[in-house]
Amino acid sequence: MPDGLPTATVVLKPRRARPFFGRHPWVLDSAIDHVDGQPADGDVAELVTHDGMFVARGLWNSRSRIRLRLYAFDAALPLDDAVWRGRLEAAFALRRSLGLDGRTGGYRLVNSEGDDLSGLIVDRYGDYLAVQVTALAMERRLESICDMLQTLVAPRGILLRGAERGLSKLEGLHLPDRVIRGQPPAGPVFVEEQGLKFGVDLAEGQKTGFYLDQRDNRRAAAARARGRRVLDVFCYSGGFALACGVAGGARSVLAVDTSSRATAMATANAELNAATNITVETADAFEKLDALAAAGERFGMVVLDPPKFARSRATLDDALRAYHRINRVACDLLEPGGILVTCSCSGSVGREDFLAMLSGVAARAGRMIQLLEVRGAAADHPVSVSCLEGEYLKCVIARVA
Ligand code: SAH
Repeated sequence: MPDGLPTATVVLKPRRARPFFGRHPWVLDSAIDHVDGQPADGDVAELVTHDGMFVARGLWNSRSRIRLRLYAFDAALPLDDAVWRGRLEAAFALRRSLGLDGRTGGYRLVNSEGDDLSGLIVDRYGDYLAVQVTALAMERRLESICDMLQTLVAPRGILLRGAERGLSKLEGLHLPDRVIRGQPPAGPVFVEEQGLKFGVDLAEGQKTGFYLDQRDNRRAAAARARGRRVLDVFCYSGGFALACGVAGGARSVLAVDTSSRATAMATANAELNAATNITVETADAFEKLDALAAAGERFGMVVLDPPKFARSRATLDDALRAYHRINRVACDLLEPGGILVTCSCSGSVGREDFLAMLSGVAARAGRMIQLLEVRGAAADHPVSVSCLEGEYLKCVIARVA
């Protein structure tokens, strides 16, 4: 069967078509009445209502709870290479229109559902691309997608990086890290942000090497850091620490992470930018926060950017307790009028949940917390309004009176 033509028809249960007419791309097993035909995993299938009306075209995966991922909502449009190429070109054009310079800086070139390419993430770091695949259908098309990326961006190398373990398992994917095109970089790749240089480890770094989603939040934090003593907890390679300590003119920064690989990168990045006011420490955040509070230390700004505490709604309460705990100690560490920059990258913790948690912290700490900015991910991480599951990052900047 040539690519693009449907091999099967997926028939929805009665009254289940509405989200898909609204362009939501995930057709769960539970919405499907039956399938006419025998699609192989990765095949194009057509989605129809219970009474046979065309809804969309998508790619089939019998192994995933998301049985069908939708990519085309126009009956006249076959789901072939022209569609994928068009989507990649549109994604590239959007980043250029945002003024992001791929030669010197890093940016997310493709953000899955946010670019109508469910299951595909592409990050650009100068001359290199790092690709993450979270849908089997995309894995099947990886070679041709890399050909298209090669034509579009002409990178020196394209690397495949494993997605979150949980996600890959859900899709029945097994994708070891590898170089798909060209050569891997010999060492770190350097990207610029706010005039600062960061070394990015494309082979071993967290995510695809750098937390690109926090770019604008690092800038926003830096804008309030001048003259302050800053604590950057969960610092990874020093993104907030350098933004505040060098670009933002903070008096000094203490940066903490539990991973020695992360703190080695943060130290190297501080040296790369000739920073003399940044101290990097390898320590557990919870212990370090408690120790600083017990020692009566005070800061003018505390940045909290922890890893995902909630993997699903089921662990939401535990996650909120953990957020409460670190934010509570952060408040104790802040001098009156200090700035709290507090983040959550757990998609299952909603913005309202997160703000309610902070209200609990204010009550317990006996301090007023004034919201100055409630922010999300940078604009190169667009979210489709039809698939709000793509929204995960919250970054609250608040004054703790
Ligand atoms: N702020 C960073 C990104 C932070 S990602 C930036 O802008 O680039 C979250 C970090 O938390 C990771 O580097 C991870 O190593 C670290 N981490 C996870 N658990 C931790 C713990 N218990 N104590 C300290 N750091 C931890």
